[in-house]
Amino acid sequence: MRTLDDLDVEGKRVLVRVDFNVPLDEHQNITDDARIRGALPTLNELRDKGARLLLAAHLGRPKDREPELSLRPVAEQLSEYLGEDVQLAESLDDVPDGDVVMLENVRYEPGETKNDPELAKRYAVLADVYVNDAFGAAHRAHASTEAVAKLLPSAAGRLLESEVKTLNGILADPGRPLVAVVGGAKVTDKIGVLDAFLHRADTILIGGAMCFPFFKAQGHEVGASLCEEAGVEPARRVLMAAGEGQLQLPDDLVAGKEFKADTETRKIDGVDVPEGWMGLDIGPETAERYADEIANAGTVFWNGPMGAFELAPFADGTQRVAVAIAAAPGVTVVGGGDSAAALKQFGFADDVDHLSTGGGASLELIEGKQLPGVEVLS
Ligand code: ADP
Ligand code: MG
Repeated sequence: MRTLDDLDVEGKRVLVRVDFNVPLDEHQNITDDARIRGALPTLNELRDKGARLLLAAHLGRPKDREPELSLRPVAEQLSEYLGEDVQLAESLDDVPDGDVVMLENVRYEPGETKNDPELAKRYAVLADVYVNDAFGAAHRAHASTEAVAKLLPSAAGRLLESEVKTLNGILADPGRPLVAVVGGAKVTDKIGVLDAFLHRADTILIGGAMCFPFFKAQGHEVGASLCEEAGVEPARRVLMAAGEGQLQLPDDLVAGKEFKADTETRKIDGVDVPEGWMGLDIGPETAERYADEIANAGTVFWNGPMGAFELAPFADGTQRVAVAIAAAPGVTVVGGGDSAAALKQFGFADDVDHLSTGGGASLELIEGKQLPGVEVLS
């Protein structure tokens, strides 16, 4: 993969695809600007090397030019970080000539998600070289992530470079033992990741609602737990394929009557969930066992919370795992939107070696898939 070290950018106009898909509240205020900060090393390096920047990014999934999904708030926030006015180009046909210019939401263009070569040409004529730093969008072949890269000298930005190197490193040559902590809502979302780790990880620790298809496959009662029916067969297959002791499941749970914070709760010894109850977190003994595995790991990869961590009574399992990962002596890598949110909620975002900025992209890379936005830079 080509990087900034392979590009001559001095005096050039560089089209930089960034991941500025930030969360906004109902007044279009940015509630978390980590993605903007994540692009700063690349943007500053390019500016230091004498480049002028033309930024391209998407925000949400607009059906037409929805004003609520304008990048204006992002341009304003970035202006503060760069100490320079970031001008917003409303139209591809009328792009101002400033040192740092941002195109409006690329998904306002109907051809963007179709990887339309004609749209890619309209981007390409605006710049001399192309840099992709949008790891979170690299698993999509879109006009601003794929087609345009073929039309200009192109390379990866520093964020995309570090994401790809770190995640590929886990697959290629991890410090042992490699412990994968996989949780979240659905087995079917993560089956590719589970398959990848069946081949590579020494230990796979399962948590979250993902447990229940496994328990159902083993013949346990799941009560009213979130149990994805389509996940039961894949779970059975994973159980059969796993080596002796390779796959660990909870042996105690915390259950609630309803999916809300003020519901009645109880601890369950064992994993049979009584009728009328739902398993909403791993239990304390399981959390301690998982924390021990994490403490002894050479490498930890975490994706997916251990329970409904958004609800205080069911956050302990995820918090215990987050504490263990933050303190782990091994290399620690966290991927996935909700896992990252959990890590932030508990205050450990800065205590892991790598917090991936790309949910879907990081999972696809771990699954061993080629990302179109990365392939095109190779
Ligand atoms: P990530 O975004 O990190 O990949 P997922 O999107 O797969 O994670 O899963 C996160 C969601 O799973 C959270 O909203 C959480 O509330 C939910 N979840 C986890 N465990 C349970 C459970 N036992 N019952 C219901 N929902 C759960
Ligand atoms: Mg999620």
